Amino acid sequence: MDEQIVLSFPEWLSEIDENIESKIHSIVKENSISVEQAKKLIEEKVKGGFFSKKDIDFSKMTFKVENSFAISVNQKRHFETRKVERKTVPYDPDKFSKVGFEDELEEVWAQYLIDKFTKKELQWVRGGSAEVSPCGTCDSRGLIRCPKCKGKGEYYEKCSKCNGKGEIQNKCPSCNGRGKVNEGQITVGGGKKIGAGAGYSSREVQCIRCNARGYLSERCPKCSGQGQLLITCNQCKGSGEITCTTCLGYQQLYTCDMITANCKPTEQSFIVSNFDKVKSSWFNSNKTIPSEYFEISEELDLGEYVKPASKDGRVLLEGYDLKTIPITRVKLNDGKKENSIFIVGKGKDIIGATASYLDYTKIFLFVVLPLLAALAVLYFLVLK
Ligand SMILES: [Zn+2]
Ligand SMILES: [Zn+2]
Ligand SMILES: [Zn+2]
Ligand SMILES: [Zn+2]
Repeated sequence: MDEQIVLSFPEWLSEIDENIESKIHSIVKENSISVEQAKKLIEEKVKGGFFSKKDIDFSKMTFKVENSFAISVNQKRHFETRKVERKTVPYDPDKFSKVGFEDELEEVWAQYLIDKFTKKELQWVRGGSAEVSPCGTCDSRGLIRCPKCKGKGEYYEKCSKCNGKGEIQNKCPSCNGRGKVNEGQITVGGGKKIGAGAGYSSREVQCIRCNARGYLSERCPKCSGQGQLLITCNQCKGSGEITCTTCLGYQQLYTCDMITANCKPTEQSFIVSNFDKVKSSWFNSNKTIPSEYFEISEELDLGEYVKPASKDGRVLLEGYDLKTIPITRVKLNDGKKENSIFIVGKGKDIIGATASYLDYTKIFLFVVLPLLAALAVLYFLVLK
């Protein structure tokens, strides 16, 4: 018979919570279980039917009780990548005159701006990186030669009425566009009795008016026969100049470093315990222990528990949610094999056990059989 208290924990836990050691000590002390108590708790479960009596024969076993703890750790990381790009834009004094002109160049990682643990991208002007320069495209005039009229303010455009031909063609009204006209004749049939055989005959002749073309050409009235029209340039409205496309008329350019920060938060959970069979569900079933939240403004090295963040960025903040529960391991040894039962939580009402202590007959009778029966009933009901 043996009783033991196991209190060791990884170093980094006290970097998260400096009082973790005393917290662990008091939790384990308050909830320590003696060999006698452990026996009693296990016996109650035997009566309750969870274990079978033949497996837990205390008279043939040695007991080893280890009072310890487990901590459920939820880690959130605020991980950011940042890149710097030099950018030049038109200098709008209303927008830029107060941005980026600090005396000292801002360190890329100096500002912490993105919302905690939120996936987001943010851009800002790097402090001290801004400069204003004259616009070379327009020689700081704010205007450049109009590309449409090449600075003339007007240009010739093909006449739309005559399509550039200078003349338009109208349908000949005499022949109605046919180029031929009917020449009507009165004929007198056979030269016999006048009136008796009188008839009308006609023949087609070429239209003299349009010279058989069917249309009449006329000088285009819109362009006076020029075929083109002088138009005031609609891009520069006749001035021959347009707003400079480089400086947008501001005559100066603003150049600065833009910092782009990209936050990809990560989250992972794991359990710290001296026992390796601890399950996360053991924490959920104990409502009396509240979790505690801590924030650390740097990346902690948690050794094997968590992979370090990738090197292309930085962890600017870490959040830790810690939930500590007492756990007692009872090692039972009947000379042939050693097995463990866990007494978990302040309520001591949860007992985890390794499989060899479970009563398979009872599990079969009370779990598997009813399930099969229910399935069978369901099967017949559906068939009907
Ligand atoms: Zn005609
Ligand atoms: Zn015309
Ligand atoms: Zn123009
Ligand atoms: Zn310009």
